[in-house]
Amino acid sequence: MDFDVIVLGAGIVGVSCALHLQDRGRRVALVDRRGPGEETSFGNAGLIESSSIVPYGFPRRLGTLLRYARNQSTDLYWDYRALPAFAGWLGRFWWESSPKRLAMAARDMLPLIRQSVAEHDVLIARAGLERLSHDGGWIEAFRTPSELDGQAAAAQAAVRDYGLRVTPLDATALRAKEPGIGAGFCGALHWHDPKSISDPGALTKGYAGLFEQTGGTLLTGDAATLRAQGEVWTVQTSAGEISAKEVVVALGPWSDTVFEPLGYRIPLRAKRGYHMHYRPTGTVLSVPVVDTEKGYVIAPMQAGLRLTTGVEIANRDAAPSPVQLERAERIAKTLFGLGERLDETPWLGRRPCTPDMRPVIGRAPRHRGLWFAFGHNHHGLTLGPVTGRLLAEMMTGAEPFIDMRPFRPERFG
Ligand SMILES: Cc1cc2nc3c(=O)[nH]c(=O)nc-3n(C[C@H](O)[C@H](O)[C@H](O)COP(=O)(O)OP(=O)(O)OC[C@H]3O[C@@H](n4cnc5c(N)ncnc54)[C@H](O)[C@@H]3O)c2cc1C
Repeated sequence: MDFDVIVLGAGIVGVSCALHLQDRGRRVALVDRRGPGEETSFGNAGLIESSSIVPYGFPRRLGTLLRYARNQSTDLYWDYRALPAFAGWLGRFWWESSPKRLAMAARDMLPLIRQSVAEHDVLIARAGLERLSHDGGWIEAFRTPSELDGQAAAAQAAVRDYGLRVTPLDATALRAKEPGIGAGFCGALHWHDPKSISDPGALTKGYAGLFEQTGGTLLTGDAATLRAQGEVWTVQTSAGEISAKEVVVALGPWSDTVFEPLGYRIPLRAKRGYHMHYRPTGTVLSVPVVDTEKGYVIAPMQAGLRLTTGVEIANRDAAPSPVQLERAERIAKTLFGLGERLDETPWLGRRPCTPDMRPVIGRAPRHRGLWFAFGHNHHGLTLGPVTGRLLAEMMTGAEPFIDMRPFRPERFG
């Protein structure tokens, strides 16, 4: 079978790229070894996070670094066996996290983040997925007054600089807004602009359904079978060999499956994280809540209350560890009224991360017809549709609506 474009990877990024290309008249095959939205895009916290303009940098406060060094925290857990493989990456991440460079990253990411909710809204309406999408933003809760005061001041700067809407809540106002939260927080910030998705996997599958309805072809296959044969690319699928002149690598944390054998040295690493669903025992939260100082999220989902953990530094394919989820669960259980566990085992996900905190979107410099769309870090659910639009604009010769230079693959040399 012959297509115009083969998109490898049916997470939120690949599905969005495929849909936008199909919309622009390309004949597109979307290939995954699993069903759409069954990996990282399935298990995240569900935030379309239009208030996170400044990316999550490497912490620079001495107290935080000492806490991480002891490896006892809930927000970061590291497996010492992974440190040699991560050392260079972490060094670059540290360098990119200086206040000046972080401000540059925020400036580059701003136009994508700003457009994120609007791009989802279009697809949600077209796919009839309104039942999964919730207004109301999310709540960032704090345990220590000094931390709350510092973050409230930073929030005011975000209101001023980026026009974001945020309401400070003291402990009483927080309890009034979310009666399901127990005592433990001194106050919170309620960010109003973001949306939340109560089943991110179903959202991705819904977008993939829309892709098929508009004439797209969804196939099962292994991206490792990609071959260049003259001017065309071929991939083996369950429907036989398919070919196209252009191919998009949207394999999230597995994108190195394709770019490494082709000789690209892009520093992509997986920051791992877990989730578990719980039966609520009291009043259910109306919006997701982040226990900021402990570094986990509790999100009301269709499947129950979903606890998602912070970052685990471990080799991508190492066996799951129970440590981080158990630590967070112990803290959250009474605070958020978490009843029995609803999943047999914790879900393990891998955030596809670049050390400069920007995704890789654009033409591969050394291979004709090869395009990259991966590395969306902590915000791939947020950025999937806007990435799809930008990539499709580039591939069809239209002028992308933002400057794409900060995202070009060759920035890593
Ligand atoms: C705990 C946690 C919480 C998060 N919370 C949020 C949040 O609230 N908001 C937000 O915006 N982001 C969040 N994220 C990040 C977000 O989930 C990711 O950035 C995003 O899902 C990445 O999407 P993707 O399409 O690039 O990758 P994926 O969804 O992983 O898709 C990659 C696809 O490639 C396929 N694949 C891999 N190898 C092959 C192969 N050899 N052949 C064929 N197919 C292959 C996989 O099956 C998969 O379907 C969170 C992540 C985690 C782990």
